[in-house]
Amino acid sequence: MADDIRQVQHFIDGRFVDAADGATFTSVSPIDNQVIATVAEGGASEVDRAVAAARAAFDDWSWMDPAERRSILYRIADGIDARQDELAAWETRDMGKPITAARTKDMPRSATNFRFFADWAEQVATETYAKPWDGVLSYTLREPLGVVGSISPWNFPLMLLTWKVAPALAFGCTVVAKPAEQSPITAGILAEICDEAGLPPGVFNLVHGFGPDSAGEAITRHPAIDAVTFTGESNTGRAIMEAAAPTMKRLSFEMGGRSANIVCADADLDEAVAGALRGIFVNQGEVCLAGSRLLVQRPVYDEFVARFVEGAEAWQVGNPLEESTQMGPLVSAEHLDKVLGYIDLAQEEGAKLLTGGHRITDGDLAQGNYLAPTVFAEATNEMRCVREEIFGPVEMILPFDEVDEAIAIANDSPFGLAGMVWTENLHTAHRVAREVKTGTMWVNCFFVRDLRAPFGGYKSSGLGREGGDHSYDFFTEAKAVVMKLK
Ligand code: NDP
Repeated sequence: MADDIRQVQHFIDGRFVDAADGATFTSVSPIDNQVIATVAEGGASEVDRAVAAARAAFDDWSWMDPAERRSILYRIADGIDARQDELAAWETRDMGKPITAARTKDMPRSATNFRFFADWAEQVATETYAKPWDGVLSYTLREPLGVVGSISPWNFPLMLLTWKVAPALAFGCTVVAKPAEQSPITAGILAEICDEAGLPPGVFNLVHGFGPDSAGEAITRHPAIDAVTFTGESNTGRAIMEAAAPTMKRLSFEMGGRSANIVCADADLDEAVAGALRGIFVNQGEVCLAGSRLLVQRPVYDEFVARFVEGAEAWQVGNPLEESTQMGPLVSAEHLDKVLGYIDLAQEEGAKLLTGGHRITDGDLAQGNYLAPTVFAEATNEMRCVREEIFGPVEMILPFDEVDEAIAIANDSPFGLAGMVWTENLHTAHRVAREVKTGTMWVNCFFVRDLRAPFGGYKSSGLGREGGDHSYDFFTEAKAVVMKLK
């Protein structure tokens, strides 16, 4: 079936190229663990070439009339829309998410990332501070930062890549991007779309490869890269921070989470159950924002847990290319092993398995990395299986009595990325939203985003914020011009 294997190259200076030494790696589908792509494997020399191209392209791109930049970025968004079905199918084959989600969520949002930031960059204003009594006028000039390195993960491959690349380009930067090695295919298609949209050579460069001692690390150490925007694990963030320190790069990190989902006794239980199920099982639980610590108030605990388990057992696991599938395979056999290891650990630590906890191996599913939706109760917040990020469809349920206790449990975590509270009491909602130390707090909803809002995390979940003006801050230098008026 060699004809079915896609060839994925680097995109450097407007050309699709192989690695200088011809090195490649393969991308394997989690659906059946068969090779679906051969990918050029880049390292320091490809990153050097990409950075040189990005630097050479920077002046023209950063000085381009924003309206002209906007029209190019809109053409890229149109190209994503035009190839939506093809992109969605590759995304699903490459990392296992259900095709309906890839087609109706990830791809439209990837196109929106370009349109949203193209508009924002054209409309955004800067501040002026007038002191006529002193005869002084100060104003802010914004200048594109320079060459940006983008390092992105595999769970929302195109959506998270474009969440970085679109604002960087819109605010006048040029980019060297490295997607995750597990899911490189749609990034390669994006490069084709950029090319077809007339993006000038060198403005967007794509180097495939690995993290440590490979393309990822080369980006973080490169002296001519001005900033790195990274999404991935917290420990990778730590390594990047160290590697970037000698060259003093500006850094933006969106990292891991172990978010509390707080269900109060006065919640609308239908909505809370549905929201909590989505909160852990959507995208196979491979979601940084997942509500993976489910805190339920005692008066509704038994009823809620029974309904939640029923929902978990009804969750449709299957081939993600089928329209009815709600949950596909985990991204890799290695990741499946890691998640199964946490399931063993949870049992050793004394949590009680209510459902799932095993691979699904019926029929063709035996070839892939399928895991049954898994629910544990009687977990405590001290357990490693509750504190560490599992990044899979495994829910840990903890009871609580008073809202204060739920807030304390939510905050007793090394992470602070997201959170949810389900309550019909306005005061409780505001209090929890204010007191939980987290980057995003959802009240009676989950996974709803407004791209103008700050996105990022507290503690080990992040550094800085992106979104709207926060992205503008990150991708530009602010210069104060102070003028004495006669
Ligand atoms: P990783 O941190 O393993 O990898 C993310 C990216 O970093 C990949 O492209 C990887 O390359 C690269 N990388 C790894 N090591 C280095 C290094 N030393 N220097 C430079 N680059 C490196 O994360 P995953 O891909 O496993 O993604 C899952 C993680 O991402 C979870 O922790 C999740 O919570 C987090 N995440 C956070 C989000 C947020 O917005 N806060 C959103 C989505 C995910 P390669 O894979 O090729 O080795």
